[in-house]
Amino acid sequence: MDSIRFNFPAPVIDESVDRLRKDVRSFLQEESRNGSFRPGTDCWCAGIDPEFSRKLGQHGWIGVTWPKQYGGRELSALHRYVITEELLVAGAPVHAHWIADRQSGPLILATGSEEMKQSILPRIAAGECFVALGLSEPESGSDLASVRTRAHRVEGGWEITGTKLWSSGAQSCQYMTVLARTGERNEKKRHEGLTQFLVPLDSPGVTVRGIRDMSGVEHFNESHFEKVFVADDAVLGAVGEGWKQITSELALERSGPERFLSTFIALEKAIQQGAASMEGHQARVIGSILARIRALRAMSLGVAALLGQGQSPDVEAALVKDLGTRLEQDIIERLREFWPIQLKQNFGDELHYLLSDSLLRQPSFTLRGGTNEVLKGIVARGLGLR
Ligand SMILES: Cc1cc2nc3c(=O)[nH]c(=O)nc-3n(C[C@H](O)[C@H](O)[C@H](O)COP(=O)(O)OP(=O)(O)OC[C@H]3O[C@@H](n4cnc5c(N)ncnc54)[C@H](O)[C@@H]3O)c2cc1C
Repeated sequence: MDSIRFNFPAPVIDESVDRLRKDVRSFLQEESRNGSFRPGTDCWCAGIDPEFSRKLGQHGWIGVTWPKQYGGRELSALHRYVITEELLVAGAPVHAHWIADRQSGPLILATGSEEMKQSILPRIAAGECFVALGLSEPESGSDLASVRTRAHRVEGGWEITGTKLWSSGAQSCQYMTVLARTGERNEKKRHEGLTQFLVPLDSPGVTVRGIRDMSGVEHFNESHFEKVFVADDAVLGAVGEGWKQITSELALERSGPERFLSTFIALEKAIQQGAASMEGHQARVIGSILARIRALRAMSLGVAALLGQGQSPDVEAALVKDLGTRLEQDIIERLREFWPIQLKQNFGDELHYLLSDSLLRQPSFTLRGGTNEVLKGIVARGLGLR
């Protein structure tokens, strides 16, 4: 059998990347000192604060890789990487702009009309416009090709009817990228006939309803589209090519530091609290977690380097997400051995607050963005094993 290789190239980190990291870090320290946010775990999903996103936009830290004509700064994927890493490690409330910065903006850049790029991308980069993901449906999660939301051709555009489920942050978004069926369903070619649309969420016929998760937060939503009209230029890319576009979008979605750093802030707090007395078993456990984080970071940076080269490393991204999200969960499980928590206790102590909060969120880590079973299937296919 041929040897099987993954491609995780080592990135070249130059001085400008380090400088940017320092700037972001000192901004975050200042904001934290001023009490502008309470550091939290899973901040890229649970921390919605449009005002904070606007501040990041004012600093030029959203859409940094995009062309200057659309509000970007033409920096590298590594520059973007260090910004996201610093935001996650600080536990900053970044969900409002996260999806638009990570994947909807790049999708619009690659597939949107010129008018769409000019009118929407600068607003995203300014932290003033947010986009939700409309992929999953009540009957369609892992098997995304089974979506039932339909878009029919009408004069001057399309009419969309259907329901999207679990869209994170949609309540504070102006737009949603909606995957809809535009061609007849063919069981033998299930991935054909799907199209992506950029739908303004204030269109007549759209309703967005928050769903409370077990941590008590309404971070995701059910959105219903009843004969929603969108003009022709709301189509992203080519009609019927939605599946191909989604595959490259998922490489952006699955490989970033948010797939292994969601609970890092709790780990850091635990190390700060326990460092003086840490020894034996406890030191070994913490040490092995840190080693895993380091390995995953190297892999995730490798994917950022490949994305910067214009590649679409979906197999490597699936591997990072599978290993990374299990590590995020493991961190909480292992810390609980040393710092037992009780959910109903008053959150006086910061470490206790971070651990309790993570405990309620961590089941979602291996579901969102594609479940780990599905990711393993992608890796197996990439290795030629299925
Ligand atoms: C916090 C959170 C945020 C989310 N945000 C968004 C969002 O913004 N936009 C959006 O569109 N969706 C979002 N989702 C939905 C997410 O993408 C789906 O939950 C996920 O794709 C799984 O789909 P499902 O929940 O329907 O589970 P199912 O697909 O029904 O899966 C149920 C179980 O069966 C297993 N399974 C399914 N198929 C296979 C297979 N072929 N082989 C082996 N096992 C299999 C799964 O691994 C899982 O354990 C979010 C979910 C969460 C938890």
